[in-house]
Amino acid sequence: MISMPEAIDIVLSRAAPLEEESLPFPDAVGRVLASEVTAPRPHPPFPASIMDGYAVRAADVPGTLRVVGAARAGAPLARDKSDKSSESDADHGRAVYITTGAPVPPGFDAVVPIERVRFPGGDDAGAVAVADAFSPGANVRSVGSDIQRGEVLLRAGDRVGPHELGIAALAGVAEARTRRAPLVAVLSTGDELADPFADSRLASAASSPDDLRPSSIFDANRHMLLACAREAGARVMDLGIARDDPDALADAIARAVDAGADVVVASGGVSEGDKDHLKDVLLGSFGRVAGAVHFGRVMMKPGKPLTFAEISRTEISRTVSTGRAEDVSGTDATDAPEGKRRREKKTVLAFGLPGNPVSAAVTFALVVAPAVRRMLGWADPRPRRLQAVLAQDIALDKERPEYHRATLDWEASGGDFANFANADAGKTNLPLARSTGRQISSRLTSMRGAEVLLELPRGPGSVAKGSVVSALVIRDIGTQGGLQMPRVRPTVVKPKSPEVLGAATSSAAGIVARRDDEKKVFARHRARAIAVVTHPFVFAKSASDLAREADVPDSDRAVTDEGNDDGAAVLEATRRFLRRAGVAEGGDAAWRVFEARAENGTSRRLAAAARAAAESSSASIVLIAPSGPGAVSSQAAVVAGTDLGFPGLAPRMRAALERAFAETMDGGEDERSDERSLDGEDSDAEDAIAALAYRESGFGINAGQVAGAVVASLPCTNCEEALREGLTKMLIVPREKWEGLVS
Ligand code: AMP
Ligand code: MG
Repeated sequence: MISMPEAIDIVLSRAAPLEEESLPFPDAVGRVLASEVTAPRPHPPFPASIMDGYAVRAADVPGTLRVVGAARAGAPLARDKSDKSSESDADHGRAVYITTGAPVPPGFDAVVPIERVRFPGGDDAGAVAVADAFSPGANVRSVGSDIQRGEVLLRAGDRVGPHELGIAALAGVAEARTRRAPLVAVLSTGDELADPFADSRLASAASSPDDLRPSSIFDANRHMLLACAREAGARVMDLGIARDDPDALADAIARAVDAGADVVVASGGVSEGDKDHLKDVLLGSFGRVAGAVHFGRVMMKPGKPLTFAEISRTEISRTVSTGRAEDVSGTDATDAPEGKRRREKKTVLAFGLPGNPVSAAVTFALVVAPAVRRMLGWADPRPRRLQAVLAQDIALDKERPEYHRATLDWEASGGDFANFANADAGKTNLPLARSTGRQISSRLTSMRGAEVLLELPRGPGSVAKGSVVSALVIRDIGTQGGLQMPRVRPTVVKPKSPEVLGAATSSAAGIVARRDDEKKVFARHRARAIAVVTHPFVFAKSASDLAREADVPDSDRAVTDEGNDDGAAVLEATRRFLRRAGVAEGGDAAWRVFEARAENGTSRRLAAAARAAAESSSASIVLIAPSGPGAVSSQAAVVAGTDLGFPGLAPRMRAALERAFAETMDGGEDERSDERSLDGEDSDAEDAIAALAYRESGFGINAGQVAGAVVASLPCTNCEEALREGLTKMLIVPREKWEGLVS
């Protein structure tokens, strides 16, 4: 007797991918592609806006632009009648209202989101003011940026699912080249069988138990196996119930073969009883059908009598009636003339499955479904194997290896998920396998909810609870309850300053820093001006503050020991810094410094003053003078005023913000993290990265962004060092100048 693995090998060696055929892509879901799919056209086919806003020329902003028309998705630019300019000179100082997905009109190269424009003359005055710089290509998906012409979209061997269909649809690929789906014909055998869904039964709503003859049972296998075959991706043909009579069997099989079936699946009549004729029929003892029987018994439980044969088509009698075909769409099974059908394929795979329903179900999953998938073109058609931990002791069969039905449950499996990294060796993240109960092959309810077949060796003996066993997946796992691994917080590799700002270059135009992907983090070209927010807020320093400052030279102090209301000291420290860096007022790359006075030193007032300074002056940098020990409210001002910011000083606030930041990056369930998904198109997320980079680079200050300006709080001591560390890394001075300063 051969083993089950050998049996599977034999079956797969006889099942080959079927011929290629082309069909409309929507009909190819479930099929395997026979050739790759390339994009016949780029997507988007035109430069498309990513935002609702105004299309502009990047060179024209910041500035106030005249609105000359509108371009909406599906409706390209319609110029306002009043716009007399020709197409060529049209776009200097002009903007076009644009919606997401609309073509960016020729001559325009960037889109300013609606949130970033102001309407100087009221909403419908035909002019928009843009305060920030935008680089060419900003908020525009260029032609082919999602899909390039000629790009390989799907590969040969890929299974077509809903998303692959979506890809083909997006690219406008109408036809799929796939393998033909096999036609699987299914019959039940047995004198005792009655059809549970026979028309006569369905007609009477009150079908009672006694409409079955005393010696009869309902035919479960045929309906179950037809559904199994469909699920495996086959087209099916219902051959009905055959009596335990060799001629009836041969006739049914001949009908299937003649109808063009690629596979015949019979159940029952393959064991050793005097009415078990299937093997003899397949061997050709009754004429009409003659096949080569590859095996007729397998060393396994349940399903020992499993039989596999190949029937040669040409030996089939021509005088057969047509089978009852369902799910057969035209081609070979119904309309084609007989002669044509016969030429197609030399052999038909015939499976004789044991009659006991569990045996039929298990053997179908182990050998028939893989054969079907191989015919469809699956590269590895075998059931997926995973490992599981036994929930209870299982006694082994003394004679045969067993395929024990089980359901999976992750939650109760004893894995230490919360501390997975620290979990001791004995604990695993494997699912727990629960037996479906008594495994006798007639008890079909042992298949209820079964997700896997545990591969158990032959006995004697038992396998103990807690043992790891291998398991073959026989249905979508997770459809039953309880199959949910706990959510874990992944280890986040935080961007490091060298990656984020390391490739930065300083330019005369302003602050430019690039990430690896060339996405600009601080690509906001603004005036070379630093606004210093000062405020009347006095504090007394603690002894520990003073001790900490003991070695700070007086020249580097921006605040007096008595308090920090000395705005002049902060302004002077800033100027001094710029002078040392060689970019002081008057020079070639001169920076301007001006004071923005806040009403008082509360975080709200400081934030308002910082915002006002950023918005009104288009300063590149807004520094908030320290507000007390730990500079808590000036740091809070950055946090409150910019939404993002990471204090370099106040440990408590820093810890809280880091937690908040981690949540933001988590892509988690709360609304806020949705808004800040790291998809690269989200300026909040970019700001978050930038802010993190600031913190990581050890500025010792808290920084964020408002209206395109960098807003930073200053520490209350050692202000100048913070300026040096902070401002140099904000890249307001040429690299060669600050490198010396920092080292
Ligand atoms: P057999 O393999 O024909 O000896 O059948 C083994 C057992 O399975 C017998 O108890 C049959 O009555 C039962 N059986 C056979 N075919 C079916 C079927 N299609 N549906 C339900 N039970 C079946
Ligand atoms: Mg029987």
